[in-house]
Amino acid sequence: MARLILQQVAKRFGEVEAVRAVDLDVSDGEFVVLVGPSGCGKSTLLRVVAGLEDISAGSIILDGRNLNDVAPRDRDMAMVFQDYALYPQMTVAENLAFALKMRGRPAAEIHEKVARISEMLEIGAFLQRKPKALSGGQRQRVALGRALIRDPKLFLFDEPLSNLDAKLRVSMRMEIRKLQIALGTTSLYVTHDQIEAMTMADRIVVMRGGAVQQIGSPAEIYRSPANAFVGAFIGTPPMSLLPAEVQGRDVVLGQGLVLSLPDGRADAIARAGATRVQVGLRAEHVRLVAAGTAGALPVTPVLVEDHGADSVAVLRIAGHEVLARVPTGSVHVGQAGLAATLDTAALHLFDTDEGHVLV
Ligand code: ATP
Repeated sequence: MARLILQQVAKRFGEVEAVRAVDLDVSDGEFVVLVGPSGCGKSTLLRVVAGLEDISAGSIILDGRNLNDVAPRDRDMAMVFQDYALYPQMTVAENLAFALKMRGRPAAEIHEKVARISEMLEIGAFLQRKPKALSGGQRQRVALGRALIRDPKLFLFDEPLSNLDAKLRVSMRMEIRKLQIALGTTSLYVTHDQIEAMTMADRIVVMRGGAVQQIGSPAEIYRSPANAFVGAFIGTPPMSLLPAEVQGRDVVLGQGLVLSLPDGRADAIARAGATRVQVGLRAEHVRLVAAGTAGALPVTPVLVEDHGADSVAVLRIAGHEVLARVPTGSVHVGQAGLAATLDTAALHLFDTDEGHVLV
């Protein structure tokens, strides 16, 4: 069992409020990803949990035990860093064995665990090499092995894949997740990469300016963003955000582009009393249709990105640019006679000032 509870956790560096009053409840075995842009405080929060930074306010509770004043080595957590943090003068086997040796474990146990972990991570062939004689991917496996071998209550990952090339990142993220599922170890994982967050997390914590913006499963965060920032940050391709004005039951995007909202949504907007809004459109909310279709708007593709299975088209609609997911090969740049419909039942409306979601 390893349930991690953060209560009103805050961290200040002088004037800088790096982490502001974070509440989070991580269940036993859960894989939670902290994601946000550079400087949002995600690494600081992880380091506070690890005990590498003092906490300024709040509590960190692991299995009912308050860790605020517990030294990092006594927290029963293992951390994997972006820069691997291996001992350069030690072989892979010695790096793996180090934490167990420091704890005075018997040689036979250390030997057995090094063998098991190196087999699990397919690094058995490199046990006698020093880290400098390994590729980045191999080094990161050793760093992972060093965390796994300790069998901790909690894994903490700080951007562990950032130094790897794109292809290796994808395979390593799958391996990390498969291992974590097999071991069932509660995990906190920091990344700036929203694709990593979406693909790996049981739950995502989106941060900005030291504060939590939203906590939810990837599906919840993607389908129901709490604000325009989350909507735009999460999702590939990004959500298109367009300024608009509410007029009665209509949302006017300008230049003849008027969307009529379904009743429930129009009522919600009326209740919110918003006049200026931002319309959030996912690429799948934009459907290309034959020109002349009722309610369709004329569009011109200004760019088409081929993603293989499908493509993303940048469409010019009444002075705005909107991204649409389209079948590969179905449109080309400058194509005439195209039109699109926007899914008014699914699109998001955010308020203009704070960016909070309205409907
Ligand atoms: P990145 O992805 O770039 O690492 P991050 O989201 O992990 O960013 P943090 O490293 O947690 O962000 O930093 C959060 C804020 O705290 C930033 O404004 C940063 O400048 C500040 N900060 C971090 N460490 C210190 C420190 N030791 N002293 C002063 N300010 C710090």
